[in-house]
Amino acid sequence: MDIIHLLPDSVANQIAAGEVIQRPASCIKELVENSLDAGATTIQVLVREAGKTLVQVIDDGKGMSETDVRMAFERHATSKISDAADLFALTTMGFRGEALAAICAVAQVEVTTRRAEDEVGSLLEINGSEVARQEICQCPVGTNIRVKNLFFNTPARRKYLKPNRTELRNILMEFYRVVLVNPQVAFTLVSDDEVLLDLPKGTHKQRIEQVFGKSQRNQFSAGLVEIHSDTDIVSIRGFVGKPEFAGKNPQQYFFVNNRFMRHPYFHKAVMTAYQGMLQPDHEPSYFIYFDISPESIDVNIHPTKTEIKFAEEQTIWQILQATVREALGKFHVAPSIDFDTPLTTLDLPQVTVDPGKVQQPRVAFNPNYNPFEQSTYSHSAPQKTAIQNWDKFYNDLRSATDDLPVPEDVHPLQVSGRYIAVPVNDGLMLVDQHRAHMTVLFAQLEKQMLEGHALRQQLLFPEVLELSADDMQLMRQLQDQLLDVGFELEQLSSTAYAINSTPALLGSDAPQRCLLDILTSVKQTGVSAKTEWNRQIALTMARDVALSYGKILSEPEMQDLLKQLFALPVYTKTPDGKTVLTNLTNAEIEKRL
Ligand code: ADP
Ligand code: MG
Repeated sequence: MDIIHLLPDSVANQIAAGEVIQRPASCIKELVENSLDAGATTIQVLVREAGKTLVQVIDDGKGMSETDVRMAFERHATSKISDAADLFALTTMGFRGEALAAICAVAQVEVTTRRAEDEVGSLLEINGSEVARQEICQCPVGTNIRVKNLFFNTPARRKYLKPNRTELRNILMEFYRVVLVNPQVAFTLVSDDEVLLDLPKGTHKQRIEQVFGKSQRNQFSAGLVEIHSDTDIVSIRGFVGKPEFAGKNPQQYFFVNNRFMRHPYFHKAVMTAYQGMLQPDHEPSYFIYFDISPESIDVNIHPTKTEIKFAEEQTIWQILQATVREALGKFHVAPSIDFDTPLTTLDLPQVTVDPGKVQQPRVAFNPNYNPFEQSTYSHSAPQKTAIQNWDKFYNDLRSATDDLPVPEDVHPLQVSGRYIAVPVNDGLMLVDQHRAHMTVLFAQLEKQMLEGHALRQQLLFPEVLELSADDMQLMRQLQDQLLDVGFELEQLSSTAYAINSTPALLGSDAPQRCLLDILTSVKQTGVSAKTEWNRQIALTMARDVALSYGKILSEPEMQDLLKQLFALPVYTKTPDGKTVLTNLTNAEIEKRL
């Protein structure tokens, strides 16, 4: 006798339901997404006993016809895609046609729905996949779904549900993920007759404040900095928390194409942008919205997965990190400078006022320009280097920086071989020379690594670098990246490398020390991502090469350094988070005198 047979739909649906509907929160997520897909502008969610006895979603969307509402509860029934190609151009939240089938397999469901063009609506009752009742009814345009006694027919699953407190927290979590990215829709969430959230339509910022403004100790309205950047690959916008509002309970959200996502790697990019600004164990809140062409991300096929793969992950990592860093930098300089007073000849920080004026670091965009070749900072050992067209570099540097808005007649003064003092509109600006130079070098090195061009100096007599076995191993992995910045290495033996060329900016400094420093800092990060390695290489080199304290600078050298510094999008903090400059205001000076 044959023993294989097809499972009845009700059983198949119950099994499938386990995938999609694990708890009341997932039920709410699916229903609210359906309402959004139906074009609703007002969505009400009501729950009883944390959704265990009732989840109800009422929307003013387009509603369903009498036949469609019946169809909607069949498995793989969807109005949103018709063939596989549609999968790659999704504009809706749902597309699998599973949610309603899953919900009605494990609950008692009652729907009323009406389309604008219909006189009367339909009412449908389904218990555990069995249609109990369908009739016409009077109801408003839109859809009203009541899901009662979730898992009534699967006691094991019902028992598995957590206490109401926990399930309610899960519901709120799912709810936040939806409402934060749909501020154009009004939402309410009512739990056992208590209004938990009442969110009118508004902007993204207003929605964040509506949701978190009251409940959090954080002052969300004052504590957020706007970020945005548009590139060919991705557009990023949103808000990040000011460092001083960071805490142990941050709200951190990424969305891509209007969908919540989790992304530990991008999280790291954001955290890197904050490096040095946070107390230990404190993290900032952020709400970051990515827009990207759907072909360059992996469609989130699995119903409950929130991880998403990006084709150009590393590049986006860089863009994200730079975007956040820039926003934080702008905000950091802002409070200390008086923007509204008119320019005087010595109004140096005015350059930061108009973001349109402070162009991207043009200096670094010039492919022929190598910042490290200006002998002004490191005119060490030219006899050893092979730089033929120094004049060209110098001229490129001139033209690249000429239109940067640092007045020529600013006369900086060096103090204690450490600081550059500049009279400004509202007092005196003090710039740390080592940190300023390091910040400039870092930005240029990062750029070089992205673009893969660096000026090398060929060594007449290769230097030898002896390494331990594990360092040999690591060096092998770093070799390509080191070449990008100008270190050309060749393995000599199982314990040594020959250094054939070094980055021009290193001058006559011993290359061994810098390479060993790089190995150490790469090891210390413990992160084996290429972008993080690049960052560590650039950081270490910038730190090693930057002007040391005690180095006496001429006026043109100081002017050049300031020009390059203020051409950067972020110049108030070093890449590892130290303060580059500070303002001594007239008011403060007055207090002392
Ligand atoms: P999916 O959303 O993946 O298409 P669902 O099972 O969630 O699958 O829904 C099935 C279909 O039911 C949807 O494609 C849609 O046509 C219809 N539908 C569900 N909810 C609503 C709603 N609130 N308003 C209008 N139509 C809806
Ligand atoms: Mg759906």
